[in-house]
Amino acid sequence: MSLEPRYVCSVDIGGTKIASAILEYPASGGRPQVVYSAEVPTCAQEGGEAVYARIEGAIRAALEEKPELRVLGVGLGSAGVVDPKTGAIAYANAIMPGWSGIELGPRLREALNMPVEVIGDVQAHALGEAHWGAGRGHYSVLCLGIGTGIGGGYVEDGRAMRGFHGAAGHMGHIECTAAAGIDCACGRSGHLESVASGTSIGRMFDERYGRVDGSRPSVGRDVNDLCCAADERGVDVIHDAGFSLGASLGSLANILDPEVIVLSGGVIHGKDGWRSVTWRDSIREGFASQALDPLLDTPILIGTLEGEAPLIGAAENLLASL
Ligand SMILES: [Zn+2]
Repeated sequence: MSLEPRYVCSVDIGGTKIASAILEYPASGGRPQVVYSAEVPTCAQEGGEAVYARIEGAIRAALEEKPELRVLGVGLGSAGVVDPKTGAIAYANAIMPGWSGIELGPRLREALNMPVEVIGDVQAHALGEAHWGAGRGHYSVLCLGIGTGIGGGYVEDGRAMRGFHGAAGHMGHIECTAAAGIDCACGRSGHLESVASGTSIGRMFDERYGRVDGSRPSVGRDVNDLCCAADERGVDVIHDAGFSLGASLGSLANILDPEVIVLSGGVIHGKDGWRSVTWRDSIREGFASQALDPLLDTPILIGTLEGEAPLIGAAENLLASL
């Protein structure tokens, strides 16, 4: 245990915002605390170079705001696929045009002259929950973030599985029976994300029953509100989404055998909450339909860190490299 607090600058890069923070790891060894935080819009449509400039600027602003702190380095979690060997952005989709190919890690190391580590944002999220959130104290944690899309990470013995290309954890893009024939945002079809993400829940409702609010397409929250009010249409759609998610979790558990599963993301932590009995029961029902007998009791927990998870996970990834 260190005798002095340690400080890490942490950045979470998403399609809409760039969140930056300085985390203090108390000398006592407890949970890291945010001692500085800021947020700027990503303005992704301005291109990769403009986004890079905003990120470097956000880090410099954080370091200048707290010059008295001896910051050990910078941990970043970024949207897209991050090359695990270099920290460059190996791939990014159309949400961040020009982000693919940006040499994020190497350029920041040179510009800042300090240790810099980059990991995928969902992998960072999983690391955060595994180290200091719902997965704390467990040897292996499968974490799924369910929001407008579905992504995740698998953490074993404190380290996130990243894969050869850095793309490990695209759990929204696994084959799913209920999604057969439905086009997916990734350009394939038949993937879990197309029936279990917040966006998909809204779309499924509109296809079956028409829009909740006739003036705009429904979103997951609209459907969940109906479900929580015991509206049979809402219960129907939430049940099907939960069952599909659970069945996929069962398949993933058969491969990975995690000690615990942690669910997180906007669908879970949305303003009105997604902790409906229907959703949770249908996840367990789906899970039981696929998981092998010894895995049936695998706990399925709700993440506790919310927006801080990727910041804390990116910091842990940096600390593991020092
Ligand atoms: Zn897909």
